[in-house]
This record gives sequence, structure tokens and C-alpha cells, in this order.
Amino acid sequence: MKAIVLLSGGLDSTLAAKLLLEQGIELEALNFLTVFCNCTPHQNRGTQSTSKTATCLVSKSAADKLGINLKVFEVSREYLEIVKNPKHGYGRNLNPCIDCRIFMLKKAGEYMRESNASFLVTGEVLGERPMSQRMEAMRLIERESGLEGLILRPLSAKLFPETIPEKEGWVDRDKLLAMQGRSRKPQIKLAEELGISDYPCPAGGCLLTDKSFSCRMRDLMKYTSAFTVKDVKFLKLGRHFRFNNMAKLVVGRNEKENARLSEMAEESDLYFTPSDVKGPIAIGRGKFGTDDILLASRILARYSDSNGSDAVKVMCSRKEDNLEDLLTSLPIKDEKLVTIRI
Ligand code: SF4
Repeated sequence: MKAIVLLSGGLDSTLAAKLLLEQGIELEALNFLTVFCNCTPHQNRGTQSTSKTATCLVSKSAADKLGINLKVFEVSREYLEIVKNPKHGYGRNLNPCIDCRIFMLKKAGEYMRESNASFLVTGEVLGERPMSQRMEAMRLIERESGLEGLILRPLSAKLFPETIPEKEGWVDRDKLLAMQGRSRKPQIKLAEELGISDYPCPAGGCLLTDKSFSCRMRDLMKYTSAFTVKDVKFLKLGRHFRFNNMAKLVVGRNEKENARLSEMAEESDLYFTPSDVKGPIAIGRGKFGTDDILLASRILARYSDSNGSDAVKVMCSRKEDNLEDLLTSLPIKDEKLVTIRI
């Protein structure tokens, strides 16, 4: 009997997979990668909705340790639509957890059918997460994904009605568990019993649960209606400043970010760099008037290696129209900066 396990690579999904492997179920792991995944570098920087090369290093490592194959789908482009307008709303930040689970499970269901598997397995634990792992929400997710009876949650199975694999006797319900709540102790104890070690910390993973990233994302959705995966990638870098509804500035925080920002800059972007002291680069995106260019150069002066009070020479250029201008600017005061930082 074959099943598909949604494997994030975290402890819960690894334990769920292990419990079923011990029952002799053949498993294939599935992972969905989006631009909001923070646990692993995006190996493929393209924007295709499916990719043969994109992978999640955390789930790959877990699948390898379990000895099962892993299929990864890069779904960023489709997923943006969920983030823009989730039917069931957002969690504490911009995390549309219920819609996200419905979306992923629907896709997993399609893959299950294509690969002749009979059911899905998840590492969900009842009550562990406030939005998507309440009983009511889990039943709703199951209904709306069209997978009633086909989602087995080995860690909490005994708290749910019997699923098809249990009713059919493919899986022994007696060997499944009744974990619930936010404490991780039962999982850690089970991991010890099953010889699982070296699993990633449960925090992190999804940028949409991060408060400051969510602020940037809200800003993007407000001012750029037709944003793309590339725009979201831009939010992951640097310090962001909103000047007005037409113009924003991103300032690199270190050499790596400066290099990445330069790569991502578009021909229509303004490019700022200090000319006679060391310092970051900044990218101005949108429509910049003279005052905005001056403001950007003062911000760059503030983050340069100057003494913080002397004027700094800042080069401003734009490829699109061969613009090049050298400005001499005093560093902006921090009190002003905090009012425009996103
Ligand atoms: S935390 Fe992020 S990845 Fe997880 S269910 Fe919520 S939106 Fe989806």
C-alpha cells in the first residue's frame, strides 16, 4: 500500500512518516516550495510554477534519512494568489494558513492520484498551531480540499474519526497516536524512541508568519497591484523605506546583499552608491522626483562609513536613460528615518 507524506523536514512530519514506514506502508515524500519558505535557499531563482531543480534542503535531508523518495513542487506563482486574497483570512501576520493548507492538500491529492497512491499522510498535531490545527479548521481544510477520509495524521489519529486507510485495515489504528497541544515534549520523547535526531528547530520556515516581513509584503500589495515572485524576492533583502505611493528605496545591509541587490536591479531602477567612502548600495524603485533622489542620497550617506555628520558624495545612476548624477548629501537623522522605514 502506497501513501504520500507531506514532508516539511521538521520533527512532526518526520515522525509521522517513520510511524507509517514501521507499519510497512510504502511512502513517497512531497514538499511544496514557495518564495516564502525561509528554511532553505531557493536553489532555482526562476519563477516557473513547477521546477525540476528547485528543492528544499531540509525536507531532502529528512527524506534521505527516512530512505524515501522526495518530490518537490515549486508553486510560488500560484501561491501569490492565495496570499493576495485568502478566503479564510490571515493569521496573526500575513499567513493565510487555512487557505495555504487547502491549496497544498489539493495539490497533494492530485499527485496522490497521479502516482497511484491511496492516501495522504501529514505530521499535523491537533491544537499545535492556533490557526490551521484546530479541530474545526482541520475538518474544514479536509472538506474544502476534497480529501475527506484520505488524510491520515498518525500523531493525532486517535483524536479524529477513522480515516479510509484505518477502516480498510491498510493501517493499524492501534499503533497510531493521540498527541495534542503545543508542547513538543511528546514528539521529542518519541523521536528518541525511534532513533530520530538532528531535526530542525520548529521556529521559522514561513516568512508570512514574520511580523516585519509581513509589513513589507503589505506595503508591496498596497502599492504594486500586479506584483510578481521577483518583487517578493526583493523584499527579503536590505532595509526598506517608503517615500510615497510612487517611490521606495532598498539599502543593502552587507556585501552579500549589495551584490544580490545589484543583480536584481532593473534598468528602470535608480542605483545609489557612495563615491568616496565605503558604504552600501541602494536601489530606488518607482517614480523618483528631485526631492526623492535627495532623500535617497541622504539615507545612503547615513549608512555609509563616513563619520555620520560630514557630507558624503553619492553617485546616482539609471541604466534606462543613462542618467548619472553626483550629489553631495548630509546623512539623514535617525528620527526621520524611522518614520519612513517599512
Ligand atoms: S505557516 Fe506559512 S506555510 Fe505554514 S500553513 Fe501557514 S501560511 Fe502555510
